Amino acid sequence: MKKCGWKKVLVDGEPEKYVKTGLKFCPCKNFNGIIYWQYFGGEKRYICSACHGDTRKPEEEKPLIVPSSIKCGIYIVYWKSGGSSIASIGMMANGGRWIAPINWVRTSEDQDIFNDIERLKRIDIDTHKLTEAE
Ligand SMILES: [Zn+2]
Repeated sequence: MKKCGWKKVLVDGEPEKYVKTGLKFCPCKNFNGIIYWQYFGGEKRYICSACHGDTRKPEEEKPLIVPSSIKCGIYIVYWKSGGSSIASIGMMANGGRWIAPINWVRTSEDQDIFNDIERLKRIDIDTHKLTEAE
């Protein structure tokens, strides 16, 4: 018998360059709405009386970035693994995006790279104050 759990579903995000994953509660076959709680190692758990599965909602995941919706330009990239890079992001013939952090030896065309990004900040070339290099 499958236990109660939360399933990841896709929901539309705001702004549109993000796709959010939402969580939907999926009850077990014998779910009757009766939930009891018990402490488990100092942690309160909400247990389904039918399947004894933990019914607590897991923490929501951060939104994912959809590469094809990123405007071409220069960005500060904040990596999920920590740290940041200044990177150029451009468009490929198939509508995907390449990314070239300035400290990498070559451009990446791997769209999965964008899953490693926590946040993108676009550097506005028109309004950004520039200093002449000496
Ligand atoms: Zn259950």
